[in-house]
This record gives sequence, structure tokens and C-alpha cells, in this order.
Amino acid sequence: MAEQDARDADHLTTTTEQGRFCVARCTCGWRGPARRARSQARTDAAGHTQAPAAGYANG
Ligand SMILES: [Zn+2]
Repeated sequence: MAEQDARDADHLTTTTEQGRFCVARCTCGWRGPARRARSQARTDAAGHTQAPAAGYANG
């Protein structure tokens, strides 16, 4: 069995500033809500990578 790596190639998240807000984005197309604080956006991104959206097929 392959080991689960913390870095998922399909879910590389970044934070983008949009005006006064910061939004977390992912390479899979996911986008978090607009946040005032970048730290909050990062938290959204972390939550996404740790628990990918339900229905997202493995593989
Ligand atoms: Zn993703």
C-alpha cells in the first residue's frame, strides 16, 4: 500500500489576495471563501487538503 503523503500533488494550495481580502485556492479548482486575514485563508486551505470535498473520487 502506498503511504499517504502530507503533500498531495493534486491539492497544492496557495493564497491569493483579492483587494482587501485573501482567498485560498487549490490546483484542483477548489476555492475558499474570501477572508480578511491571510492566516484564515491558510486555515481554509489546510482544512481542504486534510479533508477533500466529499464526492471527490480517489485516483
Ligand atoms: Zn484541492
